Amino acid sequence: MANLPILPIKPERAKSILAGHPWIFSGALAKKPDLPDGSLVKVQSHSQVLGIGYYNSRTDIAVRMLTSHDEKIDANFFADRFRLLRRRKEEWLPARTNAYRAVFAEGDGCPGLVVDKYDRTLVAQFHTLGMDRLKPMVVEGLVKAFGPVSIVERSDVANRAHEGLDDKPIGILHGSDVSEVEIEEQGFKFMVHVKEGQKTGFFLDQRENRQAIVRYAKGRTLANCFSYTGGFSVYAASVAKRVVSVDISKPATEYCRRNFKLNGHATPEGDFLALDVFDFLKGMEPGAFDFIILDPPSFAKNKKQLTNAIKAYTTINSKALEKLPDGGILVSSSCTSHVDQSTFIKILHQSSVNARCHLKVLESREQPQDHPYHMSFPEGRYLKFFILQKWAR
Ligand code: SAH
Repeated sequence: MANLPILPIKPERAKSILAGHPWIFSGALAKKPDLPDGSLVKVQSHSQVLGIGYYNSRTDIAVRMLTSHDEKIDANFFADRFRLLRRRKEEWLPARTNAYRAVFAEGDGCPGLVVDKYDRTLVAQFHTLGMDRLKPMVVEGLVKAFGPVSIVERSDVANRAHEGLDDKPIGILHGSDVSEVEIEEQGFKFMVHVKEGQKTGFFLDQRENRQAIVRYAKGRTLANCFSYTGGFSVYAASVAKRVVSVDISKPATEYCRRNFKLNGHATPEGDFLALDVFDFLKGMEPGAFDFIILDPPSFAKNKKQLTNAIKAYTTINSKALEKLPDGGILVSSSCTSHVDQSTFIKILHQSSVNARCHLKVLESREQPQDHPYHMSFPEGRYLKFFILQKWAR
């Protein structure tokens, strides 16, 4: 039993927490508590303990739940949870893969915490005040569960400011000072810069989608738009006639070239372009590529940006479809959680209308098993991924 302040909630709000929803909005609190932000609290409805979470008065989400039991939150609590996650996730990890998302925030019962495992290095992000306060226990738990050579912190994330955290720390939390890690993903090799790369350094959520495109890429001429360090490009280059990688970030395209070399692929001049994809698609010769991948960054960080995001998705998908020949493949992804599956399908449909073509769905995919979402938490379902074929009208 944990000796913590008790936070009573309105009884009618208990049901969703019991079903596993990890958030309690401020309107669900029976009364506003007088507690420091970031405090651990025991959540109760009448006298029933619903579990333990952490509190923040600054955000609409007043409490994020850590457990549905009345138990002590310490390093062992986290170590046990991380060991279980490790065991369950490694059971399903594809062969010749040593990188995966070890902790996926709410989806893994750890709101505000993301940990990616790159071989024996862990990269952690603390998104919330409550999780930031628990950092020493989390680090000790990670050390016990994973025995890593290093734990790197990449808390350079935008939402910390809303939480009342005024720093965005990057650094070493445990072990040796690691900057670059070589990982293996389904037999392909990638260099990951864990300190300077985007997010934690690599986009592990597309692992299985990268494998999925390979069968369609044989003999094709491919443009990988928003290529970052070449995740899709490296896979495709094992079977395609040519792969051109396009990203606005020069360091990312240079990394992409390095990753080609690492996998024994040729690196012709002109195939690694530091360009804005909107310009690249506009200037593309029709029919020059018969396979286009669009995996842009999130276009909407909040609901207010939704209209502009829909416009941007429609623009790039319409342009790509216009430029593809009959029979061409469009791979289109969205990681914006505010754009749900049905909205994204409408965007793709509208894009085919704009490009005056038919569009057939070959595969519809989403996030892999190491990025799970809880059935009672649809907010955690964020990745949309379509493999489509253009048919002439
Ligand atoms: N497909 C990649 C991940 C893409 S992340 C993978 O599998 O690893 C999104 C990328 O889009 C980032 O690398 C970012 O630099 C790039 N980007 C953002 N805006 C862009 C733009 N307007 N034109 C080209 N690239 C852009």
